[in-house]
Amino acid sequence: MSTPYDKYEPVIGLEVHAQMMTKTKAFCGCPADFHAPPNTNVCPVCLGHPGVLPVLNSELVDCALKMGLATNCSIRENTIFARKNYFYPDLSKGYQITQFETPLCFEGHVNIRLRDKSVKKIGITRIHMEEDAGKSIHDFSENDTLVDFNRCGVPLIEIVSEPDINSSDEAYRYLYKIRQILVYLGINDGNLEEGSMRCDANISVRRKGDEELGTRTEIKNLNSFKNVVDAIEAEMKRQTELIESGGKVSYHTMTYNAKDKTTSHTRSKEEAHDYRYFPEPDLVRLHVAAGKIAQVKTSLPEPPDARTLRMTGQYALTEAEAEEITAEKPHADFYEAITSKLGSKDPKTYRIASNIFRVDIKRILNEQKIGIGRFLLSPAVIARLADAVSAGEVSASASREIFAQLLSAGSSEAEQISMFDDLVQKYRQVSGESEIEEIVKSVLSQNSNEVERYKSGEKKLAAFFVGKIMQASKGKANPRIVNELLIKNLEVNN
Ligand code: ADP
Ligand code: MG
Ligand code: ZN
Repeated sequence: MSTPYDKYEPVIGLEVHAQMMTKTKAFCGCPADFHAPPNTNVCPVCLGHPGVLPVLNSELVDCALKMGLATNCSIRENTIFARKNYFYPDLSKGYQITQFETPLCFEGHVNIRLRDKSVKKIGITRIHMEEDAGKSIHDFSENDTLVDFNRCGVPLIEIVSEPDINSSDEAYRYLYKIRQILVYLGINDGNLEEGSMRCDANISVRRKGDEELGTRTEIKNLNSFKNVVDAIEAEMKRQTELIESGGKVSYHTMTYNAKDKTTSHTRSKEEAHDYRYFPEPDLVRLHVAAGKIAQVKTSLPEPPDARTLRMTGQYALTEAEAEEITAEKPHADFYEAITSKLGSKDPKTYRIASNIFRVDIKRILNEQKIGIGRFLLSPAVIARLADAVSAGEVSASASREIFAQLLSAGSSEAEQISMFDDLVQKYRQVSGESEIEEIVKSVLSQNSNEVERYKSGEKKLAAFFVGKIMQASKGKANPRIVNELLIKNLEVNN
């Protein structure tokens, strides 16, 4: 069924604010950790007392350069800072220091993988440095608003995308990619819910096939992936319905109300779109030498896409498998901690380790709702398990049993390894032909009815015999040898 909705496509550009994990704030020596008790990490500079002078934190420049280089941006060697003026109770200075006409990084891109597995390039318009404002706390009491200035001056970068995004799913994937790169670079903890990343979504809709962009609205301060997706969906619907009913979209800043999944206009402050930007008079021009850019480039930690590519080659994984593992940096680190401990450097063993990680370990993480940091088993014991499967010492089904039982071991690696050694003894695969043949023969003689039926054409009973034989061997028989001997014995009796 077609709906009016189908005639339109959304055009979306995201602005992502990410807090940089520097020791100190952007322009003063206060610790940048805003989790401290309210109003303890403040000084005359970040509070904006008259006569104070800001000093640029070089760590912030390094962070911004890393992100720019990792997202294929050009770097502007000479940039200046600007004042963005507005009044708000949590901004005691009356302005934020930011970059306006000369962002440090510009014209980059990232690649995202779409649902249909194709790759789409999303342009990055600019990445600039700025400082955060304070935080107003409204939910403490009904009549009062409290202000915490710890966030004032906390260093941010703002990453602005081109309007290249055409669905809420693409927006999700783009935001995921940006978060992933930030975390890989070690410059942000990727925690949207705690506010170390925030997202503004610019949205317009147009009739499919139109070249011209529609008028956008801007939804401010989305603080979770779910809210980004839901807010975009709600705003697409609102704009489409407005246009379909003969109305016109006009530029507004919007807020998203997660409770009833709607977007609505914000009031006053955000609408005043004249920030009276002017060059920050208290800071000199920033010159980033070509040598410095080259140095940051060579010291760049491996970004996720490069790691995926390396891992497909090094461990004989498919692109999809490698991408699944590198989606979260701690997962990729854990997998590579396993591979570094493997006795066998065979591609087959790497793949077995990948299967244990992607299937068994991730299932436990889901079930227990924990991150890999709290997963009990050490990479070393997982490596031993993968080696044992690869060498045929234990069967795949026995390895799952061993994995499950290991989870009851203690947290020390030594305990886990000693338990593992006992379990391998217990489940060691029986590959000796004579031993298995004995079991096969006894199973066949105990099930003579089924043997007759098999011989008169019911070939699917083979699975029944295999099950009985595996059961009789307590799962230890090597399935390949079981199959061979079963067929041999059934045919011989013919
Ligand atoms: P501002 O600073 O006022 O928010 P920008 O020029 O920095 O304005 O644009 C902000 C974002 O809006 C960018 O991500 C850009 O891609 C996006 N954008 C611009 N025009 C449109 C449009 N017509 N529809 C959707 N997004 C748009
Ligand atoms: Mg904006
Ligand atoms: Zn300060």
